[in-house]
Amino acid sequence: ATSGNLFANDPAFEVTAQTVSVLPPLPLAGPYDYLVPEGVSVAPGDFVEIPLGRQTQRGVVWGDAKGDVDPAKLREIFGVLPTPPMADVTRKFIDWVSAYTMAPQGAVLRMAMSVPDALEAPKPIFRFTLNPEFDATSLRMTPPRKRVLAFLADHPPMEQGEILRETGAGASVIKGLVEAGAVQRLMVTPPSPFEAPDLDIPRPDLSPEQNEAADALCARLDDDGFSCTLLDGVTGSGKTEVYFEPVRAALAQGKQVVVLLPEIALSAQWLQRFRDRFGVEPALWHSEVGQARRRDTWRAVADGSAKLVVGARSALFLPYHDLGLIVVDEEHEHAFKQEDGVMYHARDMAVTRAHLGNIPIVLASATPSLETLANVEAGRYQHVQLGSRHGVAVLPSVEIIDIRQDKPQRNRWITPTLKKRLAETFANGEQAMLFLNRRGYAPLTLCRACGHRFQCPNCRAWLVEHRAWGKLQCHHCGYQAKAPDACPSCGAEGKLAPCGPGVERLYEEAVETFPDIRVEVATSDNIMGPKAAAQLIDRVHNHEVDLLIGTQILAKGYHFPMLTLVGVVDADLGLAGGDLRAAERSYQLLTQVAGRAGRGDRPGTVMLQTADPANRVIKAIAAGDRDAFNEVELSQRMTHGMPPHGRLAALIISGKKESEVDEAAWRIGRVAPRGDGLMVLGPAPAPLSLLRGRYRRRFMIRADKSVKMQALIHDWLSKVKTPGSVRVQVDIDPYSF
Ligand code: ADP
Ligand code: ZN
Repeated sequence: ATSGNLFANDPAFEVTAQTVSVLPPLPLAGPYDYLVPEGVSVAPGDFVEIPLGRQTQRGVVWGDAKGDVDPAKLREIFGVLPTPPMADVTRKFIDWVSAYTMAPQGAVLRMAMSVPDALEAPKPIFRFTLNPEFDATSLRMTPPRKRVLAFLADHPPMEQGEILRETGAGASVIKGLVEAGAVQRLMVTPPSPFEAPDLDIPRPDLSPEQNEAADALCARLDDDGFSCTLLDGVTGSGKTEVYFEPVRAALAQGKQVVVLLPEIALSAQWLQRFRDRFGVEPALWHSEVGQARRRDTWRAVADGSAKLVVGARSALFLPYHDLGLIVVDEEHEHAFKQEDGVMYHARDMAVTRAHLGNIPIVLASATPSLETLANVEAGRYQHVQLGSRHGVAVLPSVEIIDIRQDKPQRNRWITPTLKKRLAETFANGEQAMLFLNRRGYAPLTLCRACGHRFQCPNCRAWLVEHRAWGKLQCHHCGYQAKAPDACPSCGAEGKLAPCGPGVERLYEEAVETFPDIRVEVATSDNIMGPKAAAQLIDRVHNHEVDLLIGTQILAKGYHFPMLTLVGVVDADLGLAGGDLRAAERSYQLLTQVAGRAGRGDRPGTVMLQTADPANRVIKAIAAGDRDAFNEVELSQRMTHGMPPHGRLAALIISGKKESEVDEAAWRIGRVAPRGDGLMVLGPAPAPLSLLRGRYRRRFMIRADKSVKMQALIHDWLSKVKTPGSVRVQVDIDPYSF
């Protein structure tokens, strides 16, 4: 039977075979029509093998045939794979994300099918047990046979390895017993590698405020439908403990839960708390999970045996069997925005996923994004607040150091005031942290003889000196060169000078200034992977470190009770530049960093070194006045029609030949849309106008909320032809502007 088929009403094409559309996980594809062979039955969501061109591909049955191809020309599906079918809601979600981001459906499906092996049936395992009908009197007995039979008589079906280990018999003994009929070989599907969470572990004593918040979140689960709640609590208020309660409640309903974290690989402390609360390991999903584990995890998520998934943004695209709750922790984080391939913001897509699945979602943050706050204001999201830190901990006090008056020495970055406070902290037996969001030794290297600056050959960016490795490195493409002795431009020797501080240089200064204290640097260069992070955390906890110097990897989530002083070496970093979100991001980052101080029973202090103490971000942090900051920020955005009041999109035109890129950008610009409530800027060089060897031009589109952005861009791009060597990427809701 067919339906909705162009050819169905034409008697010349009487179709008897079933036809369906199948979507392969390929970036350029939509669903294609196929015939279903006689005797085979398929339903939407089934994973199937199909011929595509000259290849065999795997895909998902997407629905009825589209009917755009003569059925006589359709090819047949090869077969259905032994994979749990993809739920309706997952397919709807993929369609929605594709329509929203303007990425092909197949490109989005590819994110959901990132482990091709997982589609195979898991390798069966074999267990051995006594054959109850066997008459053992006729069996030739040997001592090893006796031991094996006695062992099996006392145990449930066992795997061969275990039997051999316990009885000391050889594999041939079991083989002989099976051949004689005394022992049966059973084929079983391997058990899920994920244990069921323990729901009976008592919850910690929650404060009345925490209790109320947890109850409000749990109530959303009973409402049985979509809801989005912002869990808005100051750093250290116990947001994690609070959202563990609805997680538990959803699990108790037999549902799956996913928690999205921005930097999963580094959150060893978070995982420990998770284990304490639920007694098991969650199914982890992020880039560092190995291939075999990914396969098991994908499969267990698809068949519903993995109940709890914790992952980075891509975990949203797993084929959940029955998802009941989504939590997005640190919802304001930039890391949720994927900037290449399918460009999406995982927090926004998570809200849609919850909506399509008719389930609650919780967004947690101490510094919610303006978008989320606007949604709360508009009544679309609910608001649950935690106003104080847990226990006796109080929020740190913030002090400002004006580096124009309180000057560090030449080529030094720690001001006398900060130095004094550091010394006091160490003398009290407490720990301190210096925050500088710059990896390496110096952000720029300059020849003092001729002014030559070291630039990346593939990007429009300076090379950063990493003295620890004796290298200059590009932080955008990873290009590396040995740091030379002589200037490549004028040949002068010994004239190359580092400009500005990176964490390595700050380390040098700290060790010189405080020769007796133990200093450690933590950046993504030396803290690679969860193991290294866990070890560092242990060293800090055991007080084997007095001073921790680091970049933003230290800003998030960590809880060190003895850390009482946080020094922000350059609070102005990140405020410069015309980026729409510079102030917001800077505010969030500084709040998070400040939130590391004074989390135990000793109060904390944060010192911000700045050359611009009147800046409203600095002032808002010092005053601890988030509402005032957000109000000003929102009103400025409103004036310019920027998000969350208006909508933004970007077109990035890129290619290896600059002239081709310019030509394509010019042609696209010539047919740019105009209209009320619409502004198109560009083409202009993109923020990185040369990146990984590709020249980049950009259009920015700002539109009122009423404008259908995707339709507008679709129309626009359909009016121009660009050469295949030039790529046009659409970024809906671009993050940096
Ligand atoms: P946030 O995520 O809001 O910054 P956390 O959830 O990390 O806060 O909590 C801060 C610290 O306080 C953690 O070490 C946590 O274990 C502890 N904590 C919070 N609430 C409780 C509670 N009710 N009982 C015991 N410890 C708590
Ligand atoms: Zn580069």
